[in-house]
Amino acid sequence: MAAGSRTFFHCHPEEEDPGVLLDPGNQVSEPWGEPEHGPCDKCGGQGTTIYECFSCMEAGSDPECPACQGRVRFEQTCPTCEGCGEINRHQRHGLAVFPSREGLYRYLAWKNDARIEGKVVVELAGELSEDLDLDADHGALLVFPQRLVSVEPLDPAVVTAIRDRVGAEEG
Ligand SMILES: [Zn+2]
Ligand SMILES: [Zn+2]
Repeated sequence: MAAGSRTFFHCHPEEEDPGVLLDPGNQVSEPWGEPEHGPCDKCGGQGTTIYECFSCMEAGSDPECPACQGRVRFEQTCPTCEGCGEINRHQRHGLAVFPSREGLYRYLAWKNDARIEGKVVVELAGELSEDLDLDADHGALLVFPQRLVSVEPLDPAVVTAIRDRVGAEEG
């Protein structure tokens, strides 16, 4: 794949103009729900965690994958606490995206509090952020979108089918 031709996928409410995603003021990511401070619940304070690239788990290992470079499952610095064992920083620079449609669908299936009705899948082109998404361990990336490539309805039946196959997160 040629440099610059990679696109990314983001879930967005259908009633809102996806053009707002191109506004730099909207290109920050925060966790869903109430932020928690204190010991890192993702890695148990160890500072590293197992990454599983949802895009490559769904669509097959891709050596060009910007989330995992085809490694699919590996251990690396925890994205939530950035290795220090405590969560200090919730806001990240960039819009949370997946490098494939399949990865986005799998993430929504895994997120048991994801709202999947009335959503669209927005395909974007842009620059990768230097920052790590809080869910980088599931193959989420942060980008600064520059261009909308496509917008299509999110199919809730696909999310449900993946959830039936692999299950949702616990808790
Ligand atoms: Zn991958
Ligand atoms: Zn951690």
